[in-house]
Amino acid sequence: MLTVAHPAVSLVEPTLQELSERHAIDLAEQFYSVLLTHEDALAFLSSSLVEERLKASLVRWVIDLFRQDGGEDNAFLAQQRKIGEVHARIKVPLRLVMHGASVLKVRMAELLTATDLGRDALAQAISKVDYLIDEAIAIMSEAYMQGSMRRAQVDESYRLFALGQDIAHERDGQIAALFEWLQGVLFQMFEDGSVSPGALSASPFGLWLTHRAGLIFEGSLSLKAIEVLMQRVDREILPRVAAAHDAQAEMALPMAELQTTAQEIKFLINDLFQSVAGLENGRDPLTRALNRRFLPTILSREINLANGTGAALSVLMLDVDHFKSINDTHGHAAGDVVLKQVAEVIADNVRLSDFVFRYGGEEFLIVLVETSVDEAEVVAERMRQQLATRDMRLPAGGDLRVTASIGLATYNDHPDYNQLIETADTALYQAKNSGRNRTVIATSRVLSVG
Ligand code: GH3
Ligand code: MG
Ligand code: MG
Repeated sequence: MLTVAHPAVSLVEPTLQELSERHAIDLAEQFYSVLLTHEDALAFLSSSLVEERLKASLVRWVIDLFRQDGGEDNAFLAQQRKIGEVHARIKVPLRLVMHGASVLKVRMAELLTATDLGRDALAQAISKVDYLIDEAIAIMSEAYMQGSMRRAQVDESYRLFALGQDIAHERDGQIAALFEWLQGVLFQMFEDGSVSPGALSASPFGLWLTHRAGLIFEGSLSLKAIEVLMQRVDREILPRVAAAHDAQAEMALPMAELQTTAQEIKFLINDLFQSVAGLENGRDPLTRALNRRFLPTILSREINLANGTGAALSVLMLDVDHFKSINDTHGHAAGDVVLKQVAEVIADNVRLSDFVFRYGGEEFLIVLVETSVDEAEVVAERMRQQLATRDMRLPAGGDLRVTASIGLATYNDHPDYNQLIETADTALYQAKNSGRNRTVIATSRVLSVG
């Protein structure tokens, strides 16, 4: 087989190289004309960016890809990784890259079909094209995934860090900065009309909003509303103020509008901070447990640590039994008060180095660092027994008892933290199904029944 394949391959490769060099510009044109119509591309590709930078890069990429030694070239591999990392940084969706790859494949196949290659050579050439493009995309995708995971971790760590700062102080400081800017505008207009006021978006407040609030409060509706108001200030209200001033007309109206808008922004800033007040230090306000969104950062870090040091790591998934009936009998507010006390018992039974997450409504994930399965079993049982024997006070007076079921899982070298959570979750499910008020270790051994 090899002796047959070789001559054909050596015939095909120069053809590919020659074709790609001759048509690289045309391929790049086609590639981007198709991609620019793809709705996913709108966020990344402007036609000027394509004209000025991307087309030339793609021309080079195509020529390098089909160069005879293309596949073996280390520089080429490194280049694909770099492209993947760049795609990850600017968050180009992988499916867009895949789409681009298929555009290139189809066009190359058309070009090859138009040559005088024989049937076998043509088939071989087309499959070589597919292979080379797929290889390049595979390397890119791998780098992309690594890059975007790293990025996601950095994002979350940063938020965790940022939220740990003094948030009330930050809110007051930014409201003060907003009104300082407003004062500046008033001063310039009434006292010293010669200078036109600077844009709100360029003020210290505007910079804070774009760079820091954009990161901490990403996705918040209040933040969007503030951004819209800030644009309105800069694009509509300030020009009206300046126009009235220049025409020596009545400035009271646009000035009042400016002040009202600043007040609206102030209320929205309060909303913004209110909405994350619960996230102060990343904690849930009712239970003081960590917010679940920090779980990926913390658990993947702990898994890395366990992996590096060989230390044990265990997690407990704890769910209150029949909690719905507490709500049904005593009301939701009473349920909240009970939940708070459940969280206190959990907190009393872990060390400062452990992590307690509010995983769901009345479900907690407890990460016990440097804790073997046997040690975790002791912690789980102590927690379960204290819960079952403690009188939970009700807001209207009186008390009640609750029980909880616990699933225990221990880190077993699997790098995916989700697997650890799922294992604990399955054990919890077994604890529920086998009667509740018990701990089940992930090996499905029923540990204890109260
Ligand atoms: P099981 O033993 O199977 O866990 O029964 P359950 O009733 O606890 O389980 P289920 O998950 O069906 O219901 C949980 C209930 O917990 C539903 C929801 O109303 C209540 N709940 C969730 N979060 C809160 C909360 O923050 N406060 C209050 N008061 N109730 C909550
Ligand atoms: Mg429950
Ligand atoms: Mg539940």
